[in-house]
Amino acid sequence: MHQIAIGIDLGGTQVRAALIDKHGTIVARMEEPTEAQAGPERVLSQIHGLTEKLLAATKSSVVVGIGVSTPGPIDTVSGIAKDIPTLSGFADFPLKAELQRRFAFPVSLENDGIAAAIGEWQFGAGRGLENLVYVTVSTGIGGGVVADGRVVRGRKGMAAHIGHMSVEPNGALCPCGNHGCFEAYGSGTAFTLRARTRAIGCEETTLGKNGSEIHARDVFAAARNGDALAKRLIDEEAEILGRGFTSLIHIFSPDAVVMGGGISHEFERLQPGIQAYIGQWAMPAFKDVKVVRAALGQNSGLVGSAALAFLAKRFAADTFALAAHH
Ligand SMILES: [Zn+2]
Repeated sequence: MHQIAIGIDLGGTQVRAALIDKHGTIVARMEEPTEAQAGPERVLSQIHGLTEKLLAATKSSVVVGIGVSTPGPIDTVSGIAKDIPTLSGFADFPLKAELQRRFAFPVSLENDGIAAAIGEWQFGAGRGLENLVYVTVSTGIGGGVVADGRVVRGRKGMAAHIGHMSVEPNGALCPCGNHGCFEAYGSGTAFTLRARTRAIGCEETTLGKNGSEIHARDVFAAARNGDALAKRLIDEEAEILGRGFTSLIHIFSPDAVVMGGGISHEFERLQPGIQAYIGQWAMPAFKDVKVVRAALGQNSGLVGSAALAFLAKRFAADTFALAAHH
């Protein structure tokens, strides 16, 4: 029978659920606003409710498992959430056990950056690569790493919180509490904040002149209309991303850097600047590493979390085959 996996992308604002086949195709998809303030019980019933609705509307299939992507950092080995800043009440909450209690099939839990990296690796821009770094540039900066053909999970499954590389103690304050993090400069939030600050009193821009709040998309639109400040802000953003990506390239030696997240909607505008930075500042042996756009858009995490269920099943089958062999 037709095999499907359930993917859940639990975010601070939206909870998304999808049924995905083994080719990574989304068979059905639903989403609703996360009741982030209502506590874990409510959020878990949202996940359960969405899953029930999707399965009810689908022809008979074999469900191999459910993969759940959550905002991190979360210990996916113990499955216990210590604290999820964007969701209230998840303090010392046994998330994996509570999920497993509600479903008859195996539950996999993954930090969101790693889940999205898996999605792009298995079904998106990183297909067939042995080494990749996935970076999401959005409200914050997150990511995931595949090295030597394996997902890098690290201690407690929390590897690749790449937004929090810091080398500048007196730098901008990051939401993590530290100063000078990559995220504090390169995120969509930081970009927008810079635009708002710099537009004040600036003569050579239309940004903010109609009294409305400036969003990232306004800056890109203004740049397309020749706005000098907007163009400068975007070039600076590309340079900041290029600097962060260059560090990642030196650390992991990836075949490619895959960029996703809200800011990657403007990938074509940012890519030349990012690539130019790498070309100028990466060590000679690393200059040819390409930055590519995520292929799955906002579904990287959703598809990745479902891919987890397939990977978990494959791994279990391999283990079984090994056990049978010995
Ligand atoms: Zn930080």
